[in-house]
Amino acid sequence: MSETADVIIIGGGIHGASLAFHLSRRGVKPIVLERKVLAAGATGRSSGLVRMHYDLEPESRLAWVSFQYFRNWGEMVGGDTPASLNTGCGFTRTGFIQLVPEKDEDALRANVAMHQRIGIPSLLVGADDVKRLAPCFRTDDFNVAAYEPESGYADPSAATATLMEAARRRGARLVQDCSVTGIRVASGKVTGVTTPRGDFSAPIVVNAAGAWAAGVAKMAGVELPIDTWRHDVMFVKQPRGVAADHPTVIDNIHSMYFRPETGGLTLVGLEDDNPIGESPEGYSDRAQPGFVERAIERICRRIPAMEEGALHSDYGGYDGISADQRAVLGQVGPEGFYAQCGFSGTGFKIAPAVGACMAELILDGEAKTVDITPFAPQRFERGDLLKGEHAYEDIWH
Ligand SMILES: Cc1cc2nc3c(=O)[nH]c(=O)nc-3n(C[C@H](O)[C@H](O)[C@H](O)COP(=O)(O)OP(=O)(O)OC[C@H]3O[C@@H](n4cnc5c(N)ncnc54)[C@H](O)[C@@H]3O)c2cc1C
Repeated sequence: MSETADVIIIGGGIHGASLAFHLSRRGVKPIVLERKVLAAGATGRSSGLVRMHYDLEPESRLAWVSFQYFRNWGEMVGGDTPASLNTGCGFTRTGFIQLVPEKDEDALRANVAMHQRIGIPSLLVGADDVKRLAPCFRTDDFNVAAYEPESGYADPSAATATLMEAARRRGARLVQDCSVTGIRVASGKVTGVTTPRGDFSAPIVVNAAGAWAAGVAKMAGVELPIDTWRHDVMFVKQPRGVAADHPTVIDNIHSMYFRPETGGLTLVGLEDDNPIGESPEGYSDRAQPGFVERAIERICRRIPAMEEGALHSDYGGYDGISADQRAVLGQVGPEGFYAQCGFSGTGFKIAPAVGACMAELILDGEAKTVDITPFAPQRFERGDLLKGEHAYEDIWH
């Protein structure tokens, strides 16, 4: 089999699907090649947090543009699938709280001011306000917090499926169980890819291969400073005394995040001890030994009533992590080869805007929706690594 497309996208995660969606809206017919099935990688394991709080302005801008999609998914993307009820991406508004240790309070204030300049609904609140929002939380170890009343979480698999379905309606194709094993280059330009199912030809090839992105880049002779990042999560059955609809929280004081889930559950992830450099083929049906014990201990520090909770389930996943833990977006190596990868554990919530920007970059030579030049792959050679103006030690997801 030898097929031709306008654009080949390697990887059927949220980013491959988002790019296919935006390209197809512009009349371009891409083909998405996925080694397993749609959302088989990080996307299918993602905790799905949707918030705009970043310490780097371009990331907050990407998240804010993406948020317009999450809250209007039905109109902007479509797809009222049964799994996703009426919103198509399962967006659930819970409110989002960012907690930081005292040493980061000035940075928090500066970042909230930056978010407000962008137009993001974000405000500074005190510990008393947090107690009113979430009476079951311990609130005696911080003074101020950032609060985004509109934020929450979404269903990453449903979001990916609906983006891809909308793209297919406009002529995009998805080939699953199709692993790209080589990238063909002639006279300094990409011409297509090789797979066990035959060759596919296109003048543009996009690397949206998540934790596998460095290996895919090598096929085009490109070295990307992207490693693998493993991340485990667990679900706890909420005991009496924990509100089923508690806010979504990133808690930098205890290096964790948590959010509610339907069915009386709370999802918990930890920001530390996420191994770098493991094979992305690693076993991840269950979390690594010791994770559940550490996560239970942490969540009980913030929500003491969780002492009476019960473990529901646990698992892990792999994402690609770049040298500065920020996305890698842009043309690199042979003409027609693009990177849309390196999302470093935080790429779900920005995917709708990133897809729009990448489509603009590919078709118009420049992204207008949000300026993505700070994320250019060439920054690593220049030693121009990205860092928030008012950086925290840890902020992922
Ligand atoms: C456990 C976990 C929790 C997370 N929680 C959050 C969160 O709360 N909020 C947030 O914003 N982000 C979160 N993230 C990060 C986010 O999920 C990822 O950044 C995002 O899903 C990456 O999407 P992607 O499309 O780039 O990669 P992926 O979803 O990994 O997709 C890449 C795809 O490429 C395919 N592929 C690889 N190699 C090849 C090849 N050679 N040929 C064909 N196909 C190939 C893979 O099978 C895979 O399906 C989390 C990540 C994990 C692991």
